[in-house]
Amino acid sequence: MTDMKQPESQRFERKRFENKETDGKRVAVIGGGVIGCLTALYLHELGANPIVLEKGVAGQQSSWAGAGILCPIHPWLYPDSFTHLIDASLALYPAMNEMLLEKTGMSMQWHKSGLLIPLFEDDRIHHSDDALAWSKRFGWHVEQLDSAQTQAHENSISEQVSGSLLWPEVGQVRNPRLLAAVKKALELVNVPIRQHAEVVGLGENEQGDINAVMLAGGEKIETDAVLLAAGSWSGELAKQIGLELPVEPVKGQIVLLKDEPGIINHIIKHDDVYMVPRSDGHILVGASMERVGFRQGTTDTVIDSLLDATYRIAPGLKSAEIINQWMGFRPGSPDGMPYLGPVEGRKGLWVASGHYRNGVALAPGTADLMSRMIMGETPAMDLSDFRVERPVVERSRVGFPKTA
Ligand SMILES: Cc1cc2nc3c(=O)[nH]c(=O)nc-3n(C[C@H](O)[C@H](O)[C@H](O)COP(=O)(O)OP(=O)(O)OC[C@H]3O[C@@H](n4cnc5c(N)ncnc54)[C@H](O)[C@@H]3O)c2cc1C
Repeated sequence: MTDMKQPESQRFERKRFENKETDGKRVAVIGGGVIGCLTALYLHELGANPIVLEKGVAGQQSSWAGAGILCPIHPWLYPDSFTHLIDASLALYPAMNEMLLEKTGMSMQWHKSGLLIPLFEDDRIHHSDDALAWSKRFGWHVEQLDSAQTQAHENSISEQVSGSLLWPEVGQVRNPRLLAAVKKALELVNVPIRQHAEVVGLGENEQGDINAVMLAGGEKIETDAVLLAAGSWSGELAKQIGLELPVEPVKGQIVLLKDEPGIINHIIKHDDVYMVPRSDGHILVGASMERVGFRQGTTDTVIDSLLDATYRIAPGLKSAEIINQWMGFRPGSPDGMPYLGPVEGRKGLWVASGHYRNGVALAPGTADLMSRMIMGETPAMDLSDFRVERPVVERSRVGFPKTA
């Protein structure tokens, strides 16, 4: 499987703001996940002077653990503004991929494997009509396959399948490789990533403008702006600095299978499980949705239920070897949407967090929008649905799961 090339016209081009006050602007980015690291890289491209502060090791949390599917799970359940944000972000993937490959020589294995939703008589979730209407409205190419066509595409799928929906253009990346490439790109342009540097507070001047971050251990780093991109920990840290941000961890467990390459070829999504085939025969099976705080570790019950669901839909995978399992904490938000933008009344403080199930798909869009806003540009799209001060939604079809 080769990495895709993008047309010349979409090449990565981010103009430095020359002769502007913002050139050399110091930005402290809190959090070394995909959101923090990529935004730091994009800030550097625009002439800023960012530093990434990471309390552990950069790129080891949610951004490492995720499945790398470049399409939301059931995007038709979200408001239209979310699809606009996803579309804008996915449109930047070719340029980001090319830029990282050119700069670092490292591939994130971005490719279009397609996404297939098989349909069975006893499906728990019946989304076909909404899915088709959404695809038509937003121009996502979808094909309706009958049972024979579905089996021709994926012969591991159960013979009970009555048909399927196929989005051939949906892509995927390998998260650890994406993170490795972004970290390498930062290193090559001398943007520091300070690891084991936990931010515990902010400093402000007499006008209340943010002008510093405080690290555990007492060190103070002076800065012109701060970006809160601390993933699942953003809600806790926000509280420490007097800000209400309802971002909470939603744990996801994953099990890794290995078989011959090509045993499945598309991302397969069904009810509560998905399978993501990598080009070397690894198949990632995910993922639970658990609201259990920061409780670490995988559990046999969850892993077994993921495997049971997999074997029911795709009995052909029973022969695959089970080789690993892990978990990660998604930065959840009550409405399933990220918080993007400035914090009212706290000049110099910005938030990019709460990306929940979609932080990898939304990474280039977030990094592009946030870096431009921090450098003084007005965003090219309406971000009011993502503002930090939006009301908390009590019930949403895509927000926090109800139970553990
Ligand atoms: C099982 C699973 C499957 C997923 N599948 C997909 C998918 O298929 N597609 C998709 O798009 N998304 C997926 N996601 C979601 C995606 O991984 C996240 O939305 C995204 O990684 C969030 O990135 P982040 O940088 O905000 O958070 P993180 O990667 O968690 O990074 C936040 C960083 O901030 C650091 N930090 C926290 N507090 C502090 C502090 N006080 N000081 C300094 N540093 C701090 C943390 O140590 C961490 O390294 C999945 C997630 C999981 C867990």
